Amino acid sequence: MCPRLSLDVLWAPAPPHCLPELLNVIAKDKLLSPILVIDCLTSTPKYTLGDVRKYLTDVLKAESDVITREQQLSSKYREESERMKEQTTALQNNPIVFQSSRCAFRACNKPLELPTVHFFCQHSFHQYCFQTYSECEAECPLCAGARRRPDEPQHTAEALHHRLHHDHDP
Ligand SMILES: [Zn+2]
Ligand SMILES: [Zn+2]
Repeated sequence: MCPRLSLDVLWAPAPPHCLPELLNVIAKDKLLSPILVIDCLTSTPKYTLGDVRKYLTDVLKAESDVITREQQLSSKYREESERMKEQTTALQNNPIVFQSSRCAFRACNKPLELPTVHFFCQHSFHQYCFQTYSECEAECPLCAGARRRPDEPQHTAEALHHRLHHDHDP
C-alpha cells in the first residue's frame, strides 16, 4: 500500500476491518508517531478500542524493548567504566612487566630488539615497525585497529607490510 494513500485513508476513516492492516503499515514504515495516530483515531467515533488494541500493544511492546535494550547498554557501559577504573588504579599502583619477546605486528613477528615501543595493553613493537606502520603515535595500532574494525582482524598497516614483503619476491 502506498504510504501517502494510507495517510489519506486514515484521515478519511477507513472501515474498521481495514484498520489493522493500515495501522500495520503505519507502524512498520513509521509514517506517523503513535501519539498522532491515537489523536487521529480518537477524533473518529467509528473505531473502538478493540480495533486499535493490537496496534497499541505492539507500539508499547516496541517501546519497552527499546527501553530494555538501552538499560542493558547502560549497565554494560557502567561495568566497562568500572573495569577501566580498576585498570587505571592498577596501572597507577602496580609495576608493569612487559613480557612480549616478539614484535606484535603479525607481518613482522620477529624477536624484539632495541629500540622498542611498548604499550600498556602488552603489545610491543620494533620502533622501526611502529614508526613505519602506525597511524597514530599515541595508541597501540593493534588495539586501535581492533576498535575501529572489529570484524576485520588484520590491521590495514599490517596488510600493507605483508604485501610489501611479498612484492619483493620475484
Ligand atoms: Zn617488527
Ligand atoms: Zn595493543
